[in-house]
Amino acid sequence: MSPEEVKARGWKELDVILVTGDAYVDHSSFGTAIIGRVLEDAGFRVGIIAQPRWENPEDFKKLGKPRLFFSVSAGNTDSMVSNLTPGLKPRNKDAYSPGGKTGLRPNRAAIIYSNRIKEAFPDMPIVLGGIEASMRRFAHYDYLSDKVRQSILADAPADLVVYGMGELQIVEIAKRLQAGEDIKGIRDISGTVWKMEVKAWKELKGKGKEKAGEQDESENATEEVAKDKSLDPAEFFKEYVEIPSFSEVSQDKAVFAKAFRTYFLEQNPVTGKGIVQPHPKTIIIQNKPMRPLTEAELDHVYELPYTGETHPSYTEPVPALEMVKFSLTTHRGCFGGCSFCAITQHQGRMIASRSIESIPVSYTHLRAHETREDLVCR
Ligand code: SF4
Repeated sequence: MSPEEVKARGWKELDVILVTGDAYVDHSSFGTAIIGRVLEDAGFRVGIIAQPRWENPEDFKKLGKPRLFFSVSAGNTDSMVSNLTPGLKPRNKDAYSPGGKTGLRPNRAAIIYSNRIKEAFPDMPIVLGGIEASMRRFAHYDYLSDKVRQSILADAPADLVVYGMGELQIVEIAKRLQAGEDIKGIRDISGTVWKMEVKAWKELKGKGKEKAGEQDESENATEEVAKDKSLDPAEFFKEYVEIPSFSEVSQDKAVFAKAFRTYFLEQNPVTGKGIVQPHPKTIIIQNKPMRPLTEAELDHVYELPYTGETHPSYTEPVPALEMVKFSLTTHRGCFGGCSFCAITQHQGRMIASRSIESIPVSYTHLRAHETREDLVCR
């Protein structure tokens, strides 16, 4: 998106800027298109910076400073999956770039983009989303370095991670920032991950033990714990479970597996609890998963006015679009829980489906001459 396109819409500034490691394709198979359309539908002015150069902050400044926040995604796949083969050789094609060109996104794109945004706009809230941030939200095995890495939120100068399917979370974040809330106080949205200072966490645990009849080891509560009612230890420890820390899971595979098992089992928006994982310099706290969209909500998301096309500035096709151009989404989620598959961790284990009547509406851009009634499946 260019500054001229922003002006052409009659906008003097943007509310939200989405940064993505993929080329921009306005199709509902692309996460950035969905999030952009959903925010636009909720009344926000949205700009998109696709595949920025990351050597310096200049590309991140080109649409100005947004009024509310930046949202960062590495793209539809993890940036290292886009860039590298399983043998860690550079790929000779990037399906999410115009002409399949490689080299248009860095490895660890979500972290690098966040760093450049912070350099350009130090006080600007940053929200991470997409598969890279979602799947790296806890300490995790990193194939490239062959090590356990800490949560992406401990590495990136970001405020929140939206994990899983993010429509409800992103709109709520936008509305609450618009209402004047501080991003650092937004800690109660399901389907998000936030971070707490180590000192505050120790105080919270100390108070929890005190209430349970043990000695409180902390002397003075930090402002963070003292002021925030949501950090009442009695309430907090009812809703959150602590899993082994980054240091513990890094040293013992069995402990890593135990931590994974706990958050896998809590991946349930009805019965699941929040998860706390201490890291050396911060505490990573995941709220329970967001509920799945209702049928009407899912219908609405997929009936938004996607053009189904790549951005007109591209002179070459984006290969990933060719594969899905005539595909449509009928549902999300899977209860299979296969160990090699990310769907349960990302989309959740509860299935959300569109209505039969809604599905053909996605084809209206292809079959504009027919009426909705003509398209209903029988
Ligand atoms: S592979 Fe993934 S989507 Fe398929 S059944 Fe297993 S968990 Fe579900």
